[in-house]
Amino acid sequence: MSDAPLLLALDQGTTSTRAIAFDADGRPAVSARRELPQTYPGPGRVEHDPGRIRDDAIAVCREALERAEASGGRVAAIGITNQRETTLLWERATGRPLHPAIVWQDRRTAPACDALREQGAEPLVRRKTGLLLDPYFSATKLAWLLEHVEGAREAAGRGELAFGTVDSWLVWHLTGGRVHATDATNASRTLLFDIHEQRWDEELLETFGIPAAVLPDVRDSSGFFGETDPALFGRPVPIGGVAGDQQAATFGQAAFRAGEAKCTYGTGAFLLLITGGQPVVSRSRLLTTVAWRLGGEVTYALEGSIFSAGSAVGWLREGLGILEAPEASETLAAAARAGSEVVLVPAFTGLGAPYWDPDARGALLGVGRDTGPAEIARAALDAVAFQTGDLLEAMQTDTDVVPSVLRVDGGLSRNNLGMQMVADLVGMPVERPQVTETTALGAAYLAGLHAGVYSGLEAIGTHWRRDRRWEPSIDAEERQGRVRRWKDAVARVLTR
Ligand code: ADP
Repeated sequence: MSDAPLLLALDQGTTSTRAIAFDADGRPAVSARRELPQTYPGPGRVEHDPGRIRDDAIAVCREALERAEASGGRVAAIGITNQRETTLLWERATGRPLHPAIVWQDRRTAPACDALREQGAEPLVRRKTGLLLDPYFSATKLAWLLEHVEGAREAAGRGELAFGTVDSWLVWHLTGGRVHATDATNASRTLLFDIHEQRWDEELLETFGIPAAVLPDVRDSSGFFGETDPALFGRPVPIGGVAGDQQAATFGQAAFRAGEAKCTYGTGAFLLLITGGQPVVSRSRLLTTVAWRLGGEVTYALEGSIFSAGSAVGWLREGLGILEAPEASETLAAAARAGSEVVLVPAFTGLGAPYWDPDARGALLGVGRDTGPAEIARAALDAVAFQTGDLLEAMQTDTDVVPSVLRVDGGLSRNNLGMQMVADLVGMPVERPQVTETTALGAAYLAGLHAGVYSGLEAIGTHWRRDRRWEPSIDAEERQGRVRRWKDAVARVLTR
């Protein structure tokens, strides 16, 4: 297999930086990984060291590339996928970051968002960006940096500073400081980008007090982003694709057409439903986002996020001490008494879509004298399924584009019982692919599309292979009864 084309995905996540080389069939060949520490410099503050992100990214790419090519393949292109919204600001002349990266989870700009909301900015933001006015997104983080780093606003005005999400930071450094660019998916998470017009928006820039001189060039998600600095990997390698992590995962699941959907179950869970060439504005506080842009054509998605999915299982282990390992939740939950009415609302850090209640806290209801660890474990997996159902229901009120199957990935998707419960409680078949590294795979596919390894989406779709499928196994009446119990429980924890 000499010179077989390989695609190197660089997956820069919140807790780790990984590089995976995939073969043209979408099978992982080699991978390298470094843990990424987070720092918590104050209440609600979460930061990363930009230098560490850059160095780890270069190191894992080099390691994976060398190992992959040692066995006869050749990396045709690199694709980058990244934790979204995390905000960086650096000096153009030197590449020096002016401050630690402000991570998507950071809430320091909540008061700034409140103030903008009081000034009536939310309808504008919602109309142009498809997002909500929330500290989660980049704009208020960037404004905070310009405000709090000494001299930053003046330097930015003089065109000396560059803003970027993690993808831009990596493209900048991988190309030796020659390219300042992002892709449309990452731009669509900043609150500064008009997703309809596909350009940075002057009115939004003014609203958030951002000078246009700091902004990266916005490009298609698959295309030429530059060549890596030859000093890094022994030769220049083209960067052929960039996308935010959830969009890349959707691409990696080959969920390309309107009505196709995927849910990634990790600590939290992210459900994206492709709506096609037209953005759908949500009435249920879901986000409208760019799924990818290819050859200038935008595909849009509706996105809903659950804050606690795998973390509910984590709580069984760390909080309650009733599990040895997350996998053990499956056997424990399977031993639950039939007809148990225990409901867990895992609002540990508030509730995400469609409730958006940051102040809600969790509850365990329906506890009887015969409730034990098994019933609670079952309720934790049920909660993952119920929340998935809430998101799909919200999507169905927003659009008549209804999925016929839900594709799943992420750590918790390995839980077979949990996935059966999703199928049961959402009333829809659930499918898990053989390759569950869908985020990295999506970035590899985007790069491969640019490098000519794939002729188009159809060719990529042929590489999606099913590992397992679950059909709903309960009737509508039982489903409705259980969903009603869940909704009653949620109603008791909501604060607004
Ligand atoms: P992240 O990318 O958010 O760190 P992962 O995709 O690695 O998440 O998934 C890890 C999460 O999934 C953890 O919260 C863990 O508790 C949960 N998890 C992993 N395997 C299982 C399993 N077999 N059953 C239930 N939960 C699981």
